[in-house]
Amino acid sequence: MCVEEELTRIGEEVRNCKKCGLWKTRKNPVVGEGSLHPKVMFVGEAPGLNEDIEGRPFVGRAGKILDELLESIGLERSEIYITNVLKCRPPGNRDPQPEEIRKCTPYLDRQISLLKPKIIVTLGNFATSYVLEKFGLKPENIGRVHGEVFEIRNLFLRTKAIPMYHPASALRNPSLIDTLSSDFWVLKRLCEEE
Ligand code: URA
Ligand code: SF4
Repeated sequence: MCVEEELTRIGEEVRNCKKCGLWKTRKNPVVGEGSLHPKVMFVGEAPGLNEDIEGRPFVGRAGKILDELLESIGLERSEIYITNVLKCRPPGNRDPQPEEIRKCTPYLDRQISLLKPKIIVTLGNFATSYVLEKFGLKPENIGRVHGEVFEIRNLFLRTKAIPMYHPASALRNPSLIDTLSSDFWVLKRLCEEE
């Protein structure tokens, strides 16, 4: 099956998904969007209010920060892929629960193995812990590991993970913009090497 067909199939499954309780309160699931052959995949936490309304990732205030960071290193949304750990919005933007992560992440796993990004940027603690743990690495707090490059190699995938602060955390703590900005330069350098 080709990439496009399989992505469409994942999208259909997510739209019909009732595997955890979040389907009851979501307006629209957010499957993800972007290139079918992305060099870079961004993994956020979960849809927020605006994402739930529009069914698209990072279209609210955090998305605006992400767009500016992307622009600062000359990356277009059309050349990357953006998705989240959870595909449906937790009510009131509460933290994802372990059971919701367990039920939802098979979709993310399939997106990663299908799109085979050279680089995975994990935004915030939830995406970082999930991806590092999935590939047998020790999950660490984002404050310790942001901007570090983790090599991931197994039989099916060769990629690099770079954890970064979640753009929404820069809304609460504007000094994190500089940190995010310099971590994006790490990403830019890595993109040039790949
Ligand atoms: N925050 C996220 O983690 N993902 C989105 O899509 C929007 C906000
Ligand atoms: Fe299904 Fe994930 Fe939505 Fe839960 S969050 S209903 S597992 S798509």
